[in-house]
Amino acid sequence: MGKKITHDRMDVLDTLKKVFGFQSFRPNQEEIISSLLNRKDVFAVMPTGGGKSLCYQLPAKIMKGTTVVISPLISLMKDQVDAARENGISAAFINSSLMPQETSSVFRSLRNNSLDLLYIAPERFAMPDFLKTLQNVPIALFAIDEAHCISEWGHDFRPDYLSLSHITETFSGVPVAAFTATATQKVQNDIIRKTRLRSPFTIRASFNRHNLFYRVESKRELKTQVLNMLRKYPGEPGIIYRTTRDSVTAMAGMLQDNGIKALPYHAGLTQEERKTNQDSFNRDEVHVMVATIAFGMGIDKSNVRFIIHADLPKNIEGYYQETGRSGRDGEPAECILFFGRGDIPKIRYFIDRTEDQKEREVALEKLYQVVKYASHNVCRRRQLLGYFDEDYTDDNCKNCDICTGNIEKVDVTIDARKLMSAISRTGQRFGIMHIIEIVTGANTKRVRELGHDKIKTYGAGRDRDRHHWRFIVDELLAQEIIHQDGDRYPVLKITEKGKKVLFGNEKVSALKKEEPKKKSRAEDGIEFKAYDTALFEKLRVLRKGLADQQHVPPFIIFSDRTLHDMCRRYPVTLSDMAEITGVGAAKLERYGEEFIKAVSTYTSENPEVLTTAKPSCASPVSPVRKKITGETIEKTFELLSQGFSIEKIAENRNLAESTIAGHIEQLIMDGREIDMDLLVERSRQEKIEKIFLSLQSWQLKPVIEHFNGSVSYEEAKYVRAWMRRKK
Ligand code: ADP
Ligand code: MG
Repeated sequence: MGKKITHDRMDVLDTLKKVFGFQSFRPNQEEIISSLLNRKDVFAVMPTGGGKSLCYQLPAKIMKGTTVVISPLISLMKDQVDAARENGISAAFINSSLMPQETSSVFRSLRNNSLDLLYIAPERFAMPDFLKTLQNVPIALFAIDEAHCISEWGHDFRPDYLSLSHITETFSGVPVAAFTATATQKVQNDIIRKTRLRSPFTIRASFNRHNLFYRVESKRELKTQVLNMLRKYPGEPGIIYRTTRDSVTAMAGMLQDNGIKALPYHAGLTQEERKTNQDSFNRDEVHVMVATIAFGMGIDKSNVRFIIHADLPKNIEGYYQETGRSGRDGEPAECILFFGRGDIPKIRYFIDRTEDQKEREVALEKLYQVVKYASHNVCRRRQLLGYFDEDYTDDNCKNCDICTGNIEKVDVTIDARKLMSAISRTGQRFGIMHIIEIVTGANTKRVRELGHDKIKTYGAGRDRDRHHWRFIVDELLAQEIIHQDGDRYPVLKITEKGKKVLFGNEKVSALKKEEPKKKSRAEDGIEFKAYDTALFEKLRVLRKGLADQQHVPPFIIFSDRTLHDMCRRYPVTLSDMAEITGVGAAKLERYGEEFIKAVSTYTSENPEVLTTAKPSCASPVSPVRKKITGETIEKTFELLSQGFSIEKIAENRNLAESTIAGHIEQLIMDGREIDMDLLVERSRQEKIEKIFLSLQSWQLKPVIEHFNGSVSYEEAKYVRAWMRRKK
């Protein structure tokens, strides 16, 4: 038994590398896959971008029979199938968009047992004929994607999903996995009950999206602020969320007028228009989608680099879902909220019109939490995760405006008293703007008419500007020292807590944030490695051309992450290319040469990039190097066959020994005639092989550590290549 699992794990890691081109698993993927391989049901809540597809696509490649994926979104199925095919997985889908002949052809492949992966829409499960067909072919597993659609408690209930309740009964020997990115405990229980999973292996992953940078800016001149943000991401995809259709239309127009490729998306457009706009966005033909929250689940695009909320969201759930659509590829992305208090009454207007009192209270509470998120000087990440009952314990997340800004704790008791005194002396009947005018001593008609220039606090805060006083108001609101009352014309009132500050000796302090001088991009916050942006532009064009030829979105060819990796490591041989994240065997074969050519052309035109690249940009696998041409491996093979030692070959060719070792590794894996015993002594080979198996990993470092350095990296590398070749 132990032995069997060992081999399974190696197979799994091999498949991860070979098919998907990834070096390691994301959190929980391996456990889920291992449960499925052991035919155990799975229920997993993982955030958007957590890598749920891999959890069933990898088993699909390994297990006997077809993996059947149930997915609610027809528009996504084609992309998913295209992406799987790009990785060399035999995949197809059946839904209402297919012509009858196409459908029969898929059924034929299914019956021939030649499909690894089959995507289907849920309504098929209500069709007895379809079920009969499925019962007559070997099924590896069922994966229910977007499983919250089965629950009335979820936000996207689909009655068709209820027909999935019989799946475990009808296919009693087949494991079933249910995946979702949104499930409260209540929804979770409901999903498990309705799908009748059999004591499933259950995962609730952390919702932390470490690569997303969260930022809040107060909304002042929205147009300028949005344009400034877009300037940081020229030509890169992003989404701007707005509340109303009119504001969507207006902003999309404004961006177009400014030469930015933008399109609108909202429920008022025809289905056709929406589809066209979404496709253009998916294919990187337009860069910015300005949308209402109607633009949602149907986006699997992995290279969305920024999300702008130009209006206040109604609740944190929605905000988190929307921001979650960025950075699925794991590369840095930025989520900015332009927060204006003027948006609060607009949302309250609708809440106040809700009939049901309970519903109204819940909505108000949710709104209040968003306001708190935006105005409280507490790590944004901690606040967001806290909302989902997740305890984020790091002191500094290094990836939000609070944690990366210069923050100083200042005593603001005196300012708080000045402000509250103005509120109190005017009978708690005025709004924010007016109170600030009094405190700053503004000489306006209204102030004079109301006689507010006569009160004691008039002009008491003249020494500071309006932004400062706005900051104090926001702080006091967030700390519940004052609150806003009334919806149309909200007025400021002093709370019980506030009275203790005004009349007692309670102190107030605030975290004052200094905006960094330079407008930084998301990746400046956390330790994301820099990449060559000029090369990225070139590769992006190449990717787009290939994508168009094949009628697929560019991110299906290679993700941004994969291109970024190339732009750090300048791969110029096939074995270099195979080490790039996201480059599996199928993509290596199909696109390897073309991308190598593009990189080589670029590096020969810009030779300085190879020598001036900062060491921190170079990866440990492939250090900054001289240009290596395609024949170079052959040369190594020739010299090796003539009996030269590695040192000699390196010396002779003026290359690093590690480079030669890399060539040899590739030659071994390619199945070339190489005498292993000359490279590593036979008995050592066996020992090293054993350790790889017992450590259940292809990583070199642990093996070296096991031998306390008496085995070299090269030796371990050769043995590893040999083991892989034998498979
Ligand atoms: P989800 O469905 O959970 O939102 P996806 O399955 O669409 O997420 O995966 C998001 C992205 O992460 C995809 O681009 C995918 O290729 C990538 N990905 C998944 N697993 C890994 C991994 N182990 N290493 C690197 N990238 C991964
Ligand atoms: Mg998904």
